[in-house]
Amino acid sequence: MRITRLRLAGFKSFVEPADLVIRDGLTGVVGPNGCGKSNLLEALRWAMGETSARSMRGAGMEDVIFAGTATRPPRDFAEVSILAEVDGRETEVVRRIERGAGSAYRIDGRDVRARDVGLLFADAATGAHSPALVSQNRIGAVIAAKPAERRAMLEEAAGIAGLHVRRREAETR
Ligand code: ATP
Ligand code: MG
Repeated sequence: MRITRLRLAGFKSFVEPADLVIRDGLTGVVGPNGCGKSNLLEALRWAMGETSARSMRGAGMEDVIFAGTATRPPRDFAEVSILAEVDGRETEVVRRIERGAGSAYRIDGRDVRARDVGLLFADAATGAHSPALVSQNRIGAVIAAKPAERRAMLEEAAGIAGLHVRRREAETR
């Protein structure tokens, strides 16, 4: 899987729609403290299905919606779209949250479950908990991780996390 584009609207500090094309090779995001660099990485993780508000540095999931400033009113929804090449095919994953209404996901325009988005990324050995996404507090977390947590990180990296999701699904039937 190769992520080629990230679009945000109303997500955290990205109140105006933002459209980022991610080209081949290394991409750097630079800017002063507080300009939204970490928010971009969080947007990726969120659209991949992150369910922990705390790991998005919020108290509740609606905290990802633009909260307003002294000069701008808050928004009532946030939407993030990831465009990716999966097995040579272009796929769009969209997550949207509305105040009071929770999250909804779409893959290529079709309404899907959070689990479908989770499987899509897990099969591509990536996703909200991918070891490839290293946030500012993650290095310390890896060092302090319990053996089971470290195993989960290794399984994500080895690309077998999708199998566990399917096994859990099969076991609960
Ligand atoms: P640093 O270089 O310090 O790591 P950064 O570029 O990673 O900074 P972020 O942490 O991505 O910056 O952005 C923080 C900014 O996002 C803060 O100004 C904060 O007020 C703003 N922000 C976070 N959530 C929201 C929200 N829901 N609504 C509006 N602004 C928000
Ligand atoms: Mg940061």
